[in-house]
Amino acid sequence: MAIVYLSLGSNLGDRVGYIQQATSLLGANKNINIVTTSSFYETEPWGMESDNWFLNAIVQISTSLSPLDLLKECQNIENLLGRERKNNKGYSDRTLDIDIVFYDNLIINNNDLTIPHKYFHKRAFMLVPMLEIAEDFVHPFFGRTVESLYDDIENPEMVCLYGTRI
Ligand code: AMP
Repeated sequence: MAIVYLSLGSNLGDRVGYIQQATSLLGANKNINIVTTSSFYETEPWGMESDNWFLNAIVQISTSLSPLDLLKECQNIENLLGRERKNNKGYSDRTLDIDIVFYDNLIINNNDLTIPHKYFHKRAFMLVPMLEIAEDFVHPFFGRTVESLYDDIENPEMVCLYGTRI
């Protein structure tokens, strides 16, 4: 079984509900076990203009799915929970976004997947929840712990704790 960290985010509608439902749907897959979840963090939109702030969390799973099959499962869940994809490039408001942040110590870079997630080390909304549940995890590309990467981030104050665990 691979250990995988997923980043879940929502900035439309019942944000808590979407993240909770996504976690339940992941756990309902016979090839996925939920290991632990972070708290929710409320964060300012990153890389897009929107008045709708996000809720973000990191979910640690163990899975027998390959990275690509896991991506397909995450996209199925995004679609089930009402995610609409616009044709234009760039970010837009979404009921649910699931990104694969780490998949064991694998480094993957192809048309479908970049793992570790290419912006993990720049995004407080991924780093801070990860810090909560796996501060000693070593980023396989940079060879540095999550805690050490967090020390370098430019705007760590953008994240605030919203509530309790998923
Ligand atoms: P988004 O619209 O933000 O959900 O982006 C989804 C696209 O990003 C999909 O077409 C994926 O193939 C691609 N992608 C690349 N790397 C990742 C990753 N680590 N996790 C999730 N999606 C990824």
